Amino acid sequence: MGLTDSGFEAAYDQAQRLLDRFCVSDPKDLLLEGIAFRLDVLVTDGPIRAADAWLLLGERCGLVRVRDSIRWNGQRRFCIAHELGHWTLHRGLQQKWVCTESDMSMNGSAKPLERQANWFAAELLMPDCLFQPEACASPPSIRRIVQLAERFCTSLSSTGLRLLQKTPADAALVSTKNGEVQWDSRPAHATLPRARQGFRVGPEAVVHSVSLEEPLTPDQAVGPVEVPRSAWYPDQEGSLLEESILLIQNPRVALSVLTPI
Ligand SMILES: [Zn+2]
Repeated sequence: MGLTDSGFEAAYDQAQRLLDRFCVSDPKDLLLEGIAFRLDVLVTDGPIRAADAWLLLGERCGLVRVRDSIRWNGQRRFCIAHELGHWTLHRGLQQKWVCTESDMSMNGSAKPLERQANWFAAELLMPDCLFQPEACASPPSIRRIVQLAERFCTSLSSTGLRLLQKTPADAALVSTKNGEVQWDSRPAHATLPRARQGFRVGPEAVVHSVSLEEPLTPDQAVGPVEVPRSAWYPDQEGSLLEESILLIQNPRVALSVLTPI
């Protein structure tokens, strides 16, 4: 069962309310730990097994712990924002929220209340009023995703996903793991079909040949290269442009921007 539009609007409204309350007009103003503290939530880092973060709810205050082995600041910030979403939207429902990577996945597979916390986090970290102009400024590309992730201090995945939801361009973003489709993100007007989860991307795709060197830079992206559509979408004819970058070596997690020709 999915969340209703009102669930989405509640997440949006609560995030906006916080942005207004703390006078956030630029992503660099968004000091999450400080905002959490003012909301009576203490943020800590520590070892956690089998989850990315949790929130303990007391009567008047909350405690967030983020898994200390998370390497990327953008991912850590998303965890904190997600838990603040539970604190803001779901107080009184549970005394503890233990949130896994899959709960914080923005691909739509998370449970409804987890998804609502994700919407809250996305709006808090990448507010519409700041993000939409950026999404309209140039067509989506790996370089653009990296630039926006730096500007908003967010993960490449969550930034790319939001960029492809907001862009006026006709394109899609597909995340793969070991060469199989995990999730995709497309604007409502996209002409490319939805990528099938679990589909083994064809050998013609350049996503199989991208490599990773630390630190990750947009120069490591390959493409745009013309590849057969069938490499990404079974039974499709013609070609598309693919630009891919490898985010993690083992397992091979990659992002690909696909553009119809
Ligand atoms: Zn959660």
